[in-house]
Amino acid sequence: MMVVKQIDVQNVMTKSSLPVGGYSVNPYVGCPHACKYCYASFMKRFTGHTEPWGTFLDVKNWKPITNPHRYDRQRIVIGSVTDGYNPYEEEFRRTRHLLEELQGTNAEIMICTKSDLVLRDLDLLKQFRKVTVSWSVNTLDEQFRADMDQAVSIERRLRAMKQVYDAGLRTVCFISPIFPGITDVKAIIEEVKDYADLIWLENLNLRGQFKKCIMEYIQEKYPSLFTLYDEIYNQKRLDYWKSLEAEISTYAAQQNLPYRVNDLPYGRSEKGKPVLVNYFYHEKIKRNRT
Ligand code: SF4
Repeated sequence: MMVVKQIDVQNVMTKSSLPVGGYSVNPYVGCPHACKYCYASFMKRFTGHTEPWGTFLDVKNWKPITNPHRYDRQRIVIGSVTDGYNPYEEEFRRTRHLLEELQGTNAEIMICTKSDLVLRDLDLLKQFRKVTVSWSVNTLDEQFRADMDQAVSIERRLRAMKQVYDAGLRTVCFISPIFPGITDVKAIIEEVKDYADLIWLENLNLRGQFKKCIMEYIQEKYPSLFTLYDEIYNQKRLDYWKSLEAEISTYAAQQNLPYRVNDLPYGRSEKGKPVLVNYFYHEKIKRNRT
């Protein structure tokens, strides 16, 4: 059962520590999509919630943004630790309200979602100078998807991606997290290459509480992969990722797709030629830098 409550906050815009910079905006606390591997779930301890991740949602009511132009030319990322288009957004319209408050500014909007509700806000999104909408898709197998999250089907995500692309906005297929032996990266690229400008690739990291849950899941549903997961996540071997990286860069060269590492290229891509961006181990790189 979901526990939903409304909370008053001073400000909804947070200076981001993400590599993409700018501001990170989360109109909700918690996320009903309840992904089993959610990296954001570790944020729970800062929220005072003791309920399991995915079973609570705080709806933020913030003070009106009085000077929206201070966000001109800033990148605003919506959905880093909650999905701004979770199903409750249909009723509470907080993400839509934020987009309304930022209308007329020169802000760059970047949305990360697993929903197609973002289609409702196309009218507002089209008014911004730079917009990127990214959908996380780490499988084409609806059963595995349903085992991992409570968001909309892959089919609905892909349909939304195509509609947003056709509406003239930049789209990203975020292949994340890549599950060793389960995520078929090339099959996903083949599926989306005509309506994605960018393809981001990120490996599955397992830490905190969800490591146990994922390892148990693999043991139960994919027992033949358990040895591989043990090598990667208990023995910390990188061989799998290194060979996958090599395979993807070779594939990119064969298909004539631009390939970058830890980059955030801008602009649209030629139709059918999305830019592949590899963010493998960026967590580690970030940690080493700090
Ligand atoms: S949609 Fe994103 S924020 Fe929400 S539970 Fe899944 S991974 Fe976490």
